Amino acid sequence: MARYTEAKCRICRREGAKLFLKGDRCYTDKCAYERRPYAPGQHGRIRKKMSDYAIQLREKQKTRRMYGILEGQFRAYFQRADMKKGVTGENLLSFLERRMDNVIYRLGFANSRNQARQLVRHGIFTLNGRRVTIPSLQVKVGDVIEVRERNRQSPIILEAQQVIARRGCPAWLEVDGEKLKGKVNALPTREDVQFPINEQLIVELYSK
Ligand code: SF4
Repeated sequence: MARYTEAKCRICRREGAKLFLKGDRCYTDKCAYERRPYAPGQHGRIRKKMSDYAIQLREKQKTRRMYGILEGQFRAYFQRADMKKGVTGENLLSFLERRMDNVIYRLGFANSRNQARQLVRHGIFTLNGRRVTIPSLQVKVGDVIEVRERNRQSPIILEAQQVIARRGCPAWLEVDGEKLKGKVNALPTREDVQFPINEQLIVELYSK
């Protein structure tokens, strides 16, 4: 499947926000966005007035890139969110948050969503006792996620135990760092997405 494989920090600089794509590095002073908070390229420092369309587009791109999703799949999430009862923007964020790779990242089993996706693909987690390899799988209330017995001693997972202790997890999830086990206690609400996203702009963009 096609993936963006170029320098990740360029994405943050392009979108004008820290998207936390590189794990621990994002929390240090090595963060490229902290050091050069302007768009990449020769004309990156030039400030241009943005049209309404450009503002909406950038918001959509920022969100899509933060969750590491390609355009087609992102649009499909929007269509599902639009058809579902409730506020479309909040439904969209809920779908994004409930992706298996995001849940692994939120539980602290991976340093970044990108790493989480890779670990899920390698099949090192179980969902309700069954091995899973699909990063886009949607979790439900009551689901239990565990690291497979045979992968518990891998360096990434041992490192993850420290990440869990340091970072904690959002209120809708519960994690046991000792047992390397997580549980979905509720569906994510708007308040659980603390990253500054203006989902209304995305709704306006796709509703044109
Ligand atoms: Fe973005 Fe900074 Fe992390 Fe690079 S280090 S991905 S610029 S937040």
